[in-house]
Amino acid sequence: MSGAPGRPKPSSHRSAQHEGTPVSSVSRRGLLHTALAGGLSIGANGLVEAQPASGVPKAELEPTAPAPAASPAAAVPAKTPAGTNRWRNWSGIHTCQPATWQVPGTVDELADLLRRAPGPIRCVGAGHSFTPLVPTAGTLLSLDRLSGLRSHSLKDGQATLGAGTRLQVTSRLLDAQGLGLYNLPDIDAQTLAGAMATATHGTGVGFGALHTDLLGLSLMTPAGQLLHCSPDKLPEVFAAAQVSLGALGVLTEVTLRVRAHYHLQRRVWLAKTQDLLDQAPTLAAQHRQFELYLLPFTGYGAAITHDEVPVGQVQRSTAADEDVLRDLRRLRDWLGRWPALRRWVAQRAIDPNQSETMTDVSWRLLSTQRPTRFNETEGHVPHENGIACLREVLATLEKRNEVFFPIEFRTIRGDQAWLSPFYGRDSCSIAAHAMQGEPHDYLLSELGPVYRRHGARPHWGKLHDRSPTELRALYPQWNAFAAVRRELDPQGRMLTPYMKQLLGET
Ligand SMILES: Cc1cc2nc3c(=O)[nH]c(=O)nc-3n(C[C@H](O)[C@H](O)[C@H](O)COP(=O)(O)OP(=O)(O)OC[C@H]3O[C@@H](n4cnc5c(N)ncnc54)[C@H](O)[C@@H]3O)c2cc1C
Repeated sequence: MSGAPGRPKPSSHRSAQHEGTPVSSVSRRGLLHTALAGGLSIGANGLVEAQPASGVPKAELEPTAPAPAASPAAAVPAKTPAGTNRWRNWSGIHTCQPATWQVPGTVDELADLLRRAPGPIRCVGAGHSFTPLVPTAGTLLSLDRLSGLRSHSLKDGQATLGAGTRLQVTSRLLDAQGLGLYNLPDIDAQTLAGAMATATHGTGVGFGALHTDLLGLSLMTPAGQLLHCSPDKLPEVFAAAQVSLGALGVLTEVTLRVRAHYHLQRRVWLAKTQDLLDQAPTLAAQHRQFELYLLPFTGYGAAITHDEVPVGQVQRSTAADEDVLRDLRRLRDWLGRWPALRRWVAQRAIDPNQSETMTDVSWRLLSTQRPTRFNETEGHVPHENGIACLREVLATLEKRNEVFFPIEFRTIRGDQAWLSPFYGRDSCSIAAHAMQGEPHDYLLSELGPVYRRHGARPHWGKLHDRSPTELRALYPQWNAFAAVRRELDPQGRMLTPYMKQLLGET
């Protein structure tokens, strides 16, 4: 869902009226799942099956595990029976067969191949975007080999990494040096470059999207020229390249704002939807991080907060996201045709008198795993429209009996990157999902008008139906970005037909 789908982190409940010491500390797996198991006698076996919470092999979660030296193999092409290389995105809705697939190991190699590569040239990170930003019939470029920690300084609060480094690797490399990122998205499979390119974000009124932690970046133009930019050096290229949609060239290196590593406490609790919607603004203001998952057709939602605690505290339990998702799906499968009965059963099955508290190093709590694949849309609305838009999204989705994925609500601080959906405004993000293999057209046809009414800018990496004319009107610096793009790539070698259409380029 951007978190949401496999991730209704419903785990702990506290009173809907106030926050206090959680009633009990239980496995998140036990929340809704236990409730349903008790009420409906389903899925009890799942209660004992433990999973790592951060989506990585369990061994890597051990504090003593060495940080991986480089990114895991990312976009390794699958061999088709004919022996050709085909690429597809995480959710499987986009595929392509590039003429050539390149994984350069040095910037010199990259420069050389960019000069002669057949276009359109597109970079691929971890392939986790739902929009067709990556597919090309020309050259597909992976920066998997341009990854790793190059330099770091706790005193200066900064670290430089290869742009192909995965977020999960970044966290471990920094942790090994006593450092940490300020924030993370729901998952950490993305590459740094891929995450920046679409304005990937986490939650927290005090935190911007990941690109706001960029202190500097190195960008290679399609002609093979390496530019080093920062707010002081080539500031216009920097403002354009922070969120670039991969349209300006190839990001090779990033310097990030980092801090001393830190521990967080996560609290999760279930409460009535109405109570959570009323409390959301206060909770968002009171906690380092707050997010909300509304569970459609149940009348309940899950609130999640993260707050900093002294380094060293660790209290773990197991993740229940998949179990909650499975239970919501079962309710849909069994009772979807009778929404009133579905809600009645859910309200009796859910036991809100449970809660979860977990404490650990920040990156182990901020990102989790999404084994269940899905397609997703997300609108970023002005902060003041957030709850009204969320209410409308819930009401719209509850008209469709097939819906079961939690709806995710997060807050993001505004910034100044030209194509950032958070440009110039603090925002709330509302995301909806449909399981892989199930129809997802209604995410656009029915939620599109809702998002429009509330002035949403779409997440660049998630499904949306905005035209270039609409996008131009939503982004005050649209023309400035277009000018930089034309200067860096006058021949449009980075532009596929989709990219041309998206950017309104002929
Ligand atoms: C399960 C799941 C959970 C998610 N959770 C969140 C979330 O919590 N918050 C959020 O905001 N989003 C979330 N997303 C969306 C995701 O973070 C973005 O789509 C992100 O861009 C994916 O990064 P990637 O490395 O997979 O890049 P890709 O999807 O492979 O590429 C994205 C863009 O980056 C460009 N690119 C890649 N590498 C380079 C490079 N070296 N130089 C220039 N351009 C480059 C590509 O050309 C493309 O335009 C989620 C997606 C999934 C599937």
